[in-house]
Amino acid sequence: MVLGATGSIGSQALEVISRYPEEFELLGAVAGQRTTALQAALRPFPGVACVVVDPQGPVPSGVWVGEDAACQLAADPRADVVLVAGGGAAALLPTLEALHRPCRLAIATKEVLVMAGDLVTAAARRSGAEIVPVDSEHSAIWQCLRGESAQDVVRLWLTASGGPFRTAPLAGLQDVTPEMALAHPNWRMGPKVTVDSATMMNKGLEVIEAHFLFAIPYSRISVVIHPQSAVHSAVEFCDGTMVAQLGVADMRAPIALALSGGRRLPGVVPPLDLASAGRLEFEEPDPSRFPALSLAREAAIRGGGAPAVMNAANEVAVAAFLRGELRFGEMVELVSEVTGSYAGAPPTTLEDVLAADAFGRTMAAEMVGQMDRRGATGGRRP
Ligand code: MG
Repeated sequence: MVLGATGSIGSQALEVISRYPEEFELLGAVAGQRTTALQAALRPFPGVACVVVDPQGPVPSGVWVGEDAACQLAADPRADVVLVAGGGAAALLPTLEALHRPCRLAIATKEVLVMAGDLVTAAARRSGAEIVPVDSEHSAIWQCLRGESAQDVVRLWLTASGGPFRTAPLAGLQDVTPEMALAHPNWRMGPKVTVDSATMMNKGLEVIEAHFLFAIPYSRISVVIHPQSAVHSAVEFCDGTMVAQLGVADMRAPIALALSGGRRLPGVVPPLDLASAGRLEFEEPDPSRFPALSLAREAAIRGGGAPAVMNAANEVAVAAFLRGELRFGEMVELVSEVTGSYAGAPPTTLEDVLAADAFGRTMAAEMVGQMDRRGATGGRRP
């Protein structure tokens, strides 16, 4: 089952599924809005159930519509693997539906774990479902941890490319356009995660994702910038050994590994040519260049509803930036203000999480409106 089939991860997953027909059979697919794109993507898979959550334009017969239909498909007991890709916070409900049975949940949508990590991991424990990472860094850590004892792990090292503005003059960052932010140097990804990579909010979300996937405290998860994206992440062990995973920057590798539950399929991607990879560099992230990283860490440590609020505000801010309604630096400013003003009790139910999400979304949308008006009437802000 593929949730988010028309996005970047979803379409690469369909490619992996069709390349290994003896390994995988697609039972159903969900898209957010794009009916035509979904139908085109499913042409190699005749007879597959398909759902469009919020379709734009007319819907042909044979396509189910709505969130309930998406949840029903996610809950289909015939699907032993459910890939959650794309959709951001909207993927939460189908994820929880899928986790009612002991399936393998391959999770690419980190927002789900950021907003409701406790609920999602508790649901998996209850049903005996297995959550496996698709995100390249977390897939790397998963691979580095295989066969190791949890008590020997000292630290998880998440690598980050630093995005397109790692060395750009700080003064110019305010004037970054969506086109500039969308030009990621190493990875081919969807627009939301690409903008998040440029601010490094993505790495902040990934710290939270790692905390929930590997049950490791935040104090033992570190981020290091590695511009070449050859080392996908590393684990430090108690004897001083570091184990890292290397490979080409191609999401089909972690997708295939997650779908197969950790079995290596032949020839998924070409191997990394070490000699021609050249120099591999590592550096500490500069907090003044990437304030989103410390913002996410603060929200993570605060816990409760703070990560859900931050995640919701960030989704709104990124969408507004892509529409040209917010400047680059204003995204993190806005997310910081919204997260800081949240004072709700720690969520214990799905309703609580959705309320925190709604708070973040509503307040962020109001602030975008205000900033946009200021921008329109007052000209450029300092
Ligand atoms: Mg990643």
